[in-house]
Amino acid sequence: MTVPTVSCTNCGTNFTTDDLRGTSCRYCGTVLAHHARAAQQVAVVNQMLADRNGNGIPDAFEGLVANAQANAMNQAFGGGAYPYGPYGGAGQPPMMGAPPMMGAAVHAHHAHAQAAQAMSKAVVVIVVTVVVVMFLIFGVGVAMYVAAAG
Ligand SMILES: [Zn+2]
Repeated sequence: MTVPTVSCTNCGTNFTTDDLRGTSCRYCGTVLAHHARAAQQVAVVNQMLADRNGNGIPDAFEGLVANAQANAMNQAFGGGAYPYGPYGGAGQPPMMGAPPMMGAAVHAHHAHAQAAQAMSKAVVVIVVTVVVVMFLIFGVGVAMYVAAAG
């Protein structure tokens, strides 16, 4: 297995594998590029996964989840807020003497409400998957950082 040659970005010295175990160039003191990158990734991951309000969703993704859910609601209800339930939030029955088509429309809206709930769950699953995948990708950098630092 061949180790690719890495040289100092500052003084150009070709590093040996021993040199790469350090965090900075032993000749000029410049922080090694792969360490700077890994440390940066660790900081970014920590920032992204911070959950300051403790609701289980990383703060960086809360806006994303909220937007996705709002979009799902808008698509389902044509932009108009329509409360859950067949007769609206107040629970009043449909107007007396309403034409039969009215009832059909109400049922369609009810089905949309259920679809929107399912969509919201799917969105959460997608967001969680994205978080996990990103964590795995960054985790490779973190693992390299830890291995090199050890
Ligand atoms: Zn150097």
